[in-house]
Amino acid sequence: MKLAIICIGDELLKGSTLNTNLAYMGSRLLEAGIQPVFSAEVPDSSEGIMHALEQAFKHADWVITSGGLGPTADDVTKEYIARFLGYRLEENGDVAVSIVQYWKERHDGDEMPTRVLNQSLVPENADVLRNRFGTAPGLVIRTGEDHPRFPNKNVVMLPGPPGELEPMFSASVLPLLKKEAEPRIYSKCFLVCGTGESDVEERMLPIIDRNPGLSTAYCASAQYVKLFLKSASCDALGKAMREVKSVFGHELLSDRVESLPEEVLRLLRENGDTLATAESCTGGLIAKMITDIPGASDVYLGSVVSYANTIKESMLGVESKTLADHGAVSPETAREMVQGIARRFQVSAAVATTGIAGPDGGTPEKPVGLVYAGIVYHDRCEVFELHLHRSRQQIRDRAACEVLNRLRLMILGKL
Ligand code: ATP
Ligand code: MG
Repeated sequence: MKLAIICIGDELLKGSTLNTNLAYMGSRLLEAGIQPVFSAEVPDSSEGIMHALEQAFKHADWVITSGGLGPTADDVTKEYIARFLGYRLEENGDVAVSIVQYWKERHDGDEMPTRVLNQSLVPENADVLRNRFGTAPGLVIRTGEDHPRFPNKNVVMLPGPPGELEPMFSASVLPLLKKEAEPRIYSKCFLVCGTGESDVEERMLPIIDRNPGLSTAYCASAQYVKLFLKSASCDALGKAMREVKSVFGHELLSDRVESLPEEVLRLLRENGDTLATAESCTGGLIAKMITDIPGASDVYLGSVVSYANTIKESMLGVESKTLADHGAVSPETAREMVQGIARRFQVSAAVATTGIAGPDGGTPEKPVGLVYAGIVYHDRCEVFELHLHRSRQQIRDRAACEVLNRLRLMILGKL
């Protein structure tokens, strides 16, 4: 399958909206073993859309577009694509009913502007993809083999708002593409924690050597390195997966989760533990990562963002002598912070951070990026010294992930 992506919207070219739809679709497609061959960003204009489509058709038989499906006058994607392919727009009764229903559920008796119903006009023969988070349906056009100009081309049109595109892509588009991808490609994505992309790549080399036909891709983020495996043979993929599991072992997150905080919560829940956090330099970031996961409340009790020394003393019981003798950024303070929060919240697991996130405030003894992480798990209390780099945001992100990963390893008895 050859696939192209066209992102439509004036705002993308002005730079006022970052094109996260391309990044999202690119990474999800890779997961399915599909690598786009072409992409373009074009304004909401007939010329831009038609020119991009013409180009995309030269390279690809599947084209996914995002944006411009809404009810306003600047939303012109389906009109121009339908016109380009020579299709009429026609009223779709089912779509009209679901738009009215969607509106009613959210607008408490307000009358629906008539232009909202424009979204029930769809190109003839198009399949409709349900939008659970908005009124604009997704659309799939298949030109078929008899199309005079563009035979056997497929266009999938998705709404622009990421909150609508992402669930639609997951629920409807990926399954459709996986079914269409010929020959069938088997793929697997592992999440490797606590190491970098080049280390993962290097340790994969012997596995790649032993498994001809296996292809790999890597994508690093603060939480983990995504390791993608792809093979045309199901058995060959299975063999490579077993080898990856034996090489990376407890560095891999379990198959049941999609993120590091989710894995930490899962392990804590499994062991009947409870968790609290005390954050200085990460300022609540760990609390946010944990509470981003639905259902965290059965494990997570809460946090003290103890940015000021007075709060470290009054809320966490850090001794003023500790702060005076060693400073707020010290292993001693991190230890008292984490022990203090564990005691105060009566939890079996706790983490605390104190460090210098920068850009100012570093000294030769305590440079920017120095972070102490305290972790309590049952009767163990450990303090880790981290040396992190780059921007304030990156130091804080990394610190939060390092702490969560170390807690994960302590729960597993691997640290
Ligand atoms: P609607 O107009 O009904 O919201 P739509 O399908 O017409 O939906 P657009 O008007 O193109 O979508 O975009 C709506 C919102 O989605 C805007 O806030 C826009 O910035 C955002 N958006 C559009 N395309 C992208 C993209 N490629 N990446 C990230 N955000 C996007
Ligand atoms: Mg738009």
